[in-house]
Amino acid sequence: MSGFKERFIAAQDRLARPERLGALAARGGALLCWCNRCAHHARIEARQLALALGPDFAVPEVGARLRCSGCGAKDVATSADLAAPSTVLMAAPAAAA
Ligand SMILES: [Zn+2]
Repeated sequence: MSGFKERFIAAQDRLARPERLGALAARGGALLCWCNRCAHHARIEARQLALALGPDFAVPEVGARLRCSGCGAKDVATSADLAAPSTVLMAAPAAAA
């Protein structure tokens, strides 16, 4: 098999297998949780979630287990947030009104 094809397959494999809580926790990372209803957002340490859900739990699937503390919706998106814990979140993407 050519090198290109091997790299292509490896890239596809990474897309098909999203990051796991255990791997993110091992790097000291956190999850950025974003409510799709009211835009409330929070940062949760991956280590804390890995203890509750298990290290093999996929990061994008964590949102299905969360409820927004702002509006109570269960429509929460999660992604890996590798910013330092002391970083103040200033993320406020322009809302499409
Ligand atoms: Zn909300």
